[in-house]
Amino acid sequence: MIQTPYYLIDKSKLLQNMEKIAMLREQSGAKALLALKCFATWSVFDLMRDYMDGTTSSSLNEVRLGRERFGKETHAYSVAYADHEIDEVVSHADKIIFNTAGQLTRFADQSAGITRGLRLNPGVSSSSFDLADPARPFSRLGEWDVAKVEPVMDMISGFMIHNNCENGDFALFDRMLGEIEEKFGTLLKKAEWVSLGGGIHFTGPDYPLERLAERLKRFSGEFGVQVYLEPGEASITKSTTLEVSVLDTLYNGKNLAIVDSSIEAHMLDLLIYRENARMAPNDGEHRYMICGKSCLAGDIFGEFNFDHELKVGDRISIQDAAGYTMVKKNWFNGVKMPAIAIRELDGSLRTVREFSYTDYEQSLS
Ligand SMILES: *Cc1c(COP(=O)(O)O)cnc(C)c1O
Repeated sequence: MIQTPYYLIDKSKLLQNMEKIAMLREQSGAKALLALKCFATWSVFDLMRDYMDGTTSSSLNEVRLGRERFGKETHAYSVAYADHEIDEVVSHADKIIFNTAGQLTRFADQSAGITRGLRLNPGVSSSSFDLADPARPFSRLGEWDVAKVEPVMDMISGFMIHNNCENGDFALFDRMLGEIEEKFGTLLKKAEWVSLGGGIHFTGPDYPLERLAERLKRFSGEFGVQVYLEPGEASITKSTTLEVSVLDTLYNGKNLAIVDSSIEAHMLDLLIYRENARMAPNDGEHRYMICGKSCLAGDIFGEFNFDHELKVGDRISIQDAAGYTMVKKNWFNGVKMPAIAIRELDGSLRTVREFSYTDYEQSLS
């Protein structure tokens, strides 16, 4: 048995998402690029590569990883590039998408050899969190004003618009795309390609994939553009668990169990967005608050119902632990960093990475 803590990626579950992506690509004509900022565990890229068109990135490191570990089509985007990194970014990318007309103009010479685009901000989004809302007031994420984009149109051939966030509501997506068509229609007519970003939860269980495909195809036809999607969470949702062990139990008005992991270190978004982890099954008689082992008082995975009393050494699987976890893990408290393991399609288990004291020590100096 592999020692906890470890992330366990189940390829058969990953495959279910990949098959939905393949179906959407086929029915809509859209291309799908994995958003590396959500998930960059390259040991499963061999499986994903057959179902996706490439990767998109948010930094020099990501675009390089996309080129070297995934291959296929490689898009570069960043909120801002530095002078000293732009040449290397361009060397790894097929397309570069600038966040502002200012960056596009600044790097016009260095980027002239590859396809270029610009991020547009439609001013509407599906995010319910101000923190993650690209269309929040005073947002720095993309150009809003058509008049500022028109003068640089001769330098670009397409656009990126990312304004969905775990949006499982097709009607809302459809409505927002309508607003985009209205607001930016004159620009889109001149474009050859448009990326609609990530955040569309189309691999969810009841999502109307056919309607999405039809809508994307219509958008593509109307404006004469190749459509791209940049699924992060949708690509890997429900494919991975975080496997942990109980280290201690106590009663302090509630039953508590302390495990060998930490939300701050290993599932940071639970802390940022004040969400509970997911547990399955979660309908037994024995209710416990599952707590992390860092010294942060609020390091709590959530309260769950187990079918037995928890004792030291029991193993627990935290569900849905692929997206924005491994890419964000850190050495807070020096907590043992979870290993990464893969359940292959034939059911066999393989540990692909373990982290040691040396990794911790070498992350500092
Ligand atoms: C975050 C992001 C994505 C991926 O978003 P998901 O919600 O994980 O699908 C795609 N494109 C851009 C530009 C992003 O910022």
